[in-house]
Amino acid sequence: MTAVAHAQEMKASKSSEPALLQEWTGPYDGVPPWDKVKVAQFPAAFQAAMDASKSEFEAMLEKPEAITFDNTITANELAGEKIGRLFSIWGVHSSNLSNPEVRKIQGEWEPKVSAFFSELTLDARYFQRVKYLYDTRATLNLDTKQTRLLERTYDNLVRNGALLDPAKKAQVINIETELSKKFSTFSEKVLADEETFILLASEADLAGLPESFIAATKAAATSKGKTGWAIVNTRSAVQPFLENSTRRDLREKVWRAFTNRGDNKNANDTNATIAEILKLRQDRAEILGFPTHAHYRMADTMAKDPDKAMDLMMKVWPAATARVAEEVADMQAIANADNITIEPWDYRFYAEKVRKAKYDLDQEAIKPYFQLDNMVAAMFDAAGKLYGMSFTENTGTVPVFEPKVRTFEVKRDGNIIGLFYLDNFARAGKRSGAWMTTYRSQHKLGGKNNIVLASNNNNFVPGADGVPTLISIDDASTLFHEFGHAIHFLNYNITWPGLAGVPRDFVEYPSQVNENWLLTPYVLNTYAKHYKTGEPIPAELVEKIKASDTFNQGFATVEYLSSAILDMKLHNRSVPVTDPAAFERDTLAEIGMPKEMAMRHRLPQFNHLFADDGYSAGYYSYLWSETMDADTWAAFTEKGDVWDKETAERFRAMLMATGNESDRIEAYRAFRGRDPDVKYIMKKRGFPTGE
Ligand SMILES: [Zn+2]
Repeated sequence: MTAVAHAQEMKASKSSEPALLQEWTGPYDGVPPWDKVKVAQFPAAFQAAMDASKSEFEAMLEKPEAITFDNTITANELAGEKIGRLFSIWGVHSSNLSNPEVRKIQGEWEPKVSAFFSELTLDARYFQRVKYLYDTRATLNLDTKQTRLLERTYDNLVRNGALLDPAKKAQVINIETELSKKFSTFSEKVLADEETFILLASEADLAGLPESFIAATKAAATSKGKTGWAIVNTRSAVQPFLENSTRRDLREKVWRAFTNRGDNKNANDTNATIAEILKLRQDRAEILGFPTHAHYRMADTMAKDPDKAMDLMMKVWPAATARVAEEVADMQAIANADNITIEPWDYRFYAEKVRKAKYDLDQEAIKPYFQLDNMVAAMFDAAGKLYGMSFTENTGTVPVFEPKVRTFEVKRDGNIIGLFYLDNFARAGKRSGAWMTTYRSQHKLGGKNNIVLASNNNNFVPGADGVPTLISIDDASTLFHEFGHAIHFLNYNITWPGLAGVPRDFVEYPSQVNENWLLTPYVLNTYAKHYKTGEPIPAELVEKIKASDTFNQGFATVEYLSSAILDMKLHNRSVPVTDPAAFERDTLAEIGMPKEMAMRHRLPQFNHLFADDGYSAGYYSYLWSETMDADTWAAFTEKGDVWDKETAERFRAMLMATGNESDRIEAYRAFRGRDPDVKYIMKKRGFPTGE
């Protein structure tokens, strides 16, 4: 097809183009048309988007003129905007608004779309063009960023099988399609188990539970058409129950239901799905020339080598398990009076008792000072003091996908840099946990992507009627964490979309850094105010919070690290595991998992690993990133002022604004003058550093 014919065809198809693919209109260079979306429109839109991508792609390949950086790399960078828009909207439906209709489309279309893109990626004609440019790159007069983009494009294609013969390529595509189906199956099963609940029928079942929590569980039961109180099988409901319920029998029941998600030998059991995923992953790694899935997944990370990630984890693990033994001893001393031996369903409950005894700190006494809306104002203020950003609420002026979503205009130095969507509350159909996503990311190519559309998604339980939403310190940390991701992306100032994605073990770094400002005197004095009296949080309570800062870090670290170590051991082996349950049991025994604890994510429910390739052989990234975080926080504290503008500006400009336009390890070294030092994370968690 000639370029003119192609343009004509595009024009002809424009009038019938599905609404989900059309350019976004309205303020901020266009915003997602949430008010016009209907789930039934997705299948036709997926098909149309694939057709459009295909014809754009063919038009690029059929250009008769000589191969240039512009007509190949730049053209490819600009392609796919349509499908980008579609996926932003679809992502919200599959993550925030899921229902049986969405899940049905997900099961059918995600594998198709994934296969389609694998095929485009592996198109031999495209690779030949990239390879030609790559081989002649020294003569092309490219700047550093263009060279980096070209080299990364080439490496990425090779890593995805571009050098394979057609039969092997077809195999890779088949594997990816199969994987995509298994991922959907896995998520559906886990979500189905998370939608189950334990119904409490009598007042006696509520012993020890705080009023606000009881109100929320009553509302949960009502929304499910039941009388009584429902403990839904999600972390945000289970955790407070385990901390507070004095009914040990019910703690065990709730703990078991939560811990066994995906592992009940019923229709929602995920063990067989996991085994199938592992086999497919190992097959793919081998075809692509990697010894294991971990090597394949880590080729483009800061750590690069699975052993390097494992080294870091095993540096921290012994100190963490030793600390758990101390924590259990402290708890057992109290539990002796109740005549029981600490079991996993007792850990959170007795940890709270120790917290009260040792630090006289009562989580429920803290909560009234942590109003969700105040903490939102606090995180905005902190970003203003550090990076000169300002946030003005404009809820009601742009479409949202849920009436409770708030929106904010974001400015820096007087210029609009973004629009921020905040979806704070738990709902049926919303996936658990907390996450950040951008509906549109910044890049300067094509001149129309400078206003970032970023969103934060949390799962807080809303306050009962007339009571503001009060959150725990953990929840407030989560809020600051997700907002740190948003700050990162809102501050992007890059040219090439292909250099936007940072390595997985860098991703959690800016978000973890941002958590540090929550417990600073300025934030607490200004924003931690009692919801009834308006009194600021008493200094002595702040002192107690500080004193207990490293409390229960044995538990937190072991809960996380056991999951991360299992992930790496599961994926850094050439013979795929066929019995995940046995592997989990044996590996935990081998590394000395404390018997009073469970992994934060057991394999049968480990969405990070099996809902997509996402964090597979990558759950270590949180520790890797936190090692940089602790080292970066030290850069602020060394200045004697955690609001030091010069350090904040260097952090913003060198490590956030640059996206992935330069090597992240080099960017870090430029910022800190050296590699991150593990001693700061050990200190942060209150573990001995040998100093
Ligand atoms: Zn994060």
